[in-house]
Amino acid sequence: MPESVLLNVGFLGKSSVVLVCLCGVHIIVALFLYLTQSPTKFTNYRQMPSDSTLVNVTSQTHRIVIRYDNGTVETDVNKLIYTIASVIKDDVEEPTILESCPETSPLLVGPMRVEFSEKVDLDMVRKENPQLVMGGRYKPSDCVALQKVALIIPFRNRDEHLKYWLHYIHPILQRQQLDYGIYVIQQEGQDTFNRAKLLNVGYAEALKEYDYDCFIFSDVDIIPMDDRNTYKCSSQPRHLSVSMDKFGFRLPYKQYFGGVSAMSKQQFQKINGFPNNYWGWGGEDDDIFNRLTFQGMKISRPSGDIGKCRMIRHSRDKKNEENPQRFKKIAHTKQTMNTDGIKSLKYKVINIEKDQLYTKISVDIGKP
Ligand code: BGC
Repeated sequence: MPESVLLNVGFLGKSSVVLVCLCGVHIIVALFLYLTQSPTKFTNYRQMPSDSTLVNVTSQTHRIVIRYDNGTVETDVNKLIYTIASVIKDDVEEPTILESCPETSPLLVGPMRVEFSEKVDLDMVRKENPQLVMGGRYKPSDCVALQKVALIIPFRNRDEHLKYWLHYIHPILQRQQLDYGIYVIQQEGQDTFNRAKLLNVGYAEALKEYDYDCFIFSDVDIIPMDDRNTYKCSSQPRHLSVSMDKFGFRLPYKQYFGGVSAMSKQQFQKINGFPNNYWGWGGEDDDIFNRLTFQGMKISRPSGDIGKCRMIRHSRDKKNEENPQRFKKIAHTKQTMNTDGIKSLKYKVINIEKDQLYTKISVDIGKP
């Protein structure tokens, strides 16, 4: 091979080596510039000391616009993610499942002192019962009550008695672990009083508010003296005021069903509720007893010891004189009970007052 050719080849080879070296330097310089000059990707990261701990990453720029048919919401993506995250967290949070309250409440204290010498201040009673919800409603917070109980009080001009009753009854019902509501049914106007019709109204009105399964019908002046006398319903209608001081702490007669009684919704419906046409004092409780008997039910009662109650002494109310027709009426319960009762009840609500301690419903129930 001629020498000149060999020389040429040597020159070309050297040029190629130089060219490759230049390219390499170029790549290294470009890479250096890319890594050090890039404003968004690596600058901060590279400037942090190697022992730094990542706290969080924020972005100012990611706005998101959500359009609804009636408006637009503009928000930050991070905010949106936090919102979604908290909703998901709520969804997966363990729901607190309450167990049923026990058959016998562990909070009961047994016999209690009941007296009416000192005046009762309703503001004090409100303060003493902070767990009550407007309308005189309560339910235990640590277990599911066995029954939903509406307490119905027929009422007119007995504010002093109502104070005592509320003062004593709320703590008792709470210790009995009931899910309950208090309904004071006030007869409007000055016509003759009608206890049983007011009780029917209470039943109907309470059910409009809540799915009660048990109803306690109580006079406003009767206070239980032992909280083991549970204000609850049983498989049979229950008479609760079995041992009143007024009657020497015994039943005045075997069929007596006055004062305080408990009936489930089914038991009440089975007898078509209470009679609407007993105006004035007496007889309506005997009619109710007859209804229950005619429907094959038996009265259940606590023992005389547990069933002790006190009655607030008072003179006979005006416009609640003894009803002279009551004996004749009681004799016809069988014929009247299917037509006269909750199914034929007519009244007009005049006012509903919600207090922390009670719901007071004033009604026009007509006249004899
Ligand atoms: C009346 C009842 C009353 C009972 C007790 C009876 O003569 O008819 O309504 O509850 O006496 O006082």
